[in-house]
Amino acid sequence: MKNHRQENPELDLSIVLPVFNEEDNIEALHEEITVVLNQLKLDAEVIYVDDGSDDGTLSKLKMLQESDARVVVAEFRKNFGQTAAMAAGFDLARGEIVISMDADRQNDPADIPRFIEKIEEGYDLVSGWRFDRQDGLLLRKLPSQMANRLISYTTDVKLNDYGCSLKAFRFDVVKQISLYGEMHRFIPAIASWIGVRIAEIKVNHRARVAGVSKYGISRTFRVILDLITVKFLLSYSSRPLQFFGSIGMFSSVLGTGIAFWMTFQKAFSGIPMSDRPLLLLSILLIFIGLQFITFGLLAELMTRTYHEAQEKPIYNIRHIYRS
Ligand code: UDP
Ligand code: MG
Repeated sequence: MKNHRQENPELDLSIVLPVFNEEDNIEALHEEITVVLNQLKLDAEVIYVDDGSDDGTLSKLKMLQESDARVVVAEFRKNFGQTAAMAAGFDLARGEIVISMDADRQNDPADIPRFIEKIEEGYDLVSGWRFDRQDGLLLRKLPSQMANRLISYTTDVKLNDYGCSLKAFRFDVVKQISLYGEMHRFIPAIASWIGVRIAEIKVNHRARVAGVSKYGISRTFRVILDLITVKFLLSYSSRPLQFFGSIGMFSSVLGTGIAFWMTFQKAFSGIPMSDRPLLLLSILLIFIGLQFITFGLLAELMTRTYHEAQEKPIYNIRHIYRS
């Protein structure tokens, strides 16, 4: 399998944009980005990842690429989703600083210089906060507010807005995070595992003027499932037996307790065991408990394979000082 991962930074800045059917936004967006890049005077690239668009998006992107040497276009074979498109952009990125943003013009490229300043202050990850978000209230803003509270409560990273795509990273941070499912909103939480300094800054958010949103309300449920995955990976992935084992122990101890109690009653008060539903419950609890413990042991084996197969260490070093 081909690996597209760039190993060393060669430029100052990479801007990564997942693009799916945004033919009416591309040109105006690139215009805005160009204005900002010309002010910044950095060695920059703009990576558009075409996520299997079936409108005129790809041909417009190719035209941009021909007229602007800073543009990189990656064409997906099919629609793999926004997270996959971001991951591809992160792999390809060559800049010391990597900025991700939406390609639908809802994020404002004019905010980019402030992200760069924050990174230069010493942060590893800067996340945008759409404090005045321009989306529908009932279907977008309310569910997203609930999701934000929930994510903030369950993960160690406290942000106001997890869903904002406009984010800035240092090169070594984007190269070290692996994204699956629809995990892009958990990047700060995932990155927190490697120990990053995170800042959040307010950004401008604009209503969509062209094209349609690619998501509906069903995303909320997927976000919650992803949250469970992230929480589990962050808290227990290196010690799964402690998670499954404690459920298993609780269940089998309870089951055994009930069994003893019934045996006691049968022996001393003559109450028969066989016509009591409690007997079934006790057997069920004991079996479920054993299953959980065995499952935890298997998971322990798998985490070892996981770390060793990828030669993925269980620590992360920011810098080594030596002469
Ligand atoms: N996007 C993508 N692949 C998809 C869905 C969306 O690359 O399968 C891109 C889309 O083109 C846009 C960004 O991800 O640049 C955010 O999508 P959208 O604006 O639909 O999400 P919303 O802002 O409504 O949450
Ligand atoms: Mg949008």
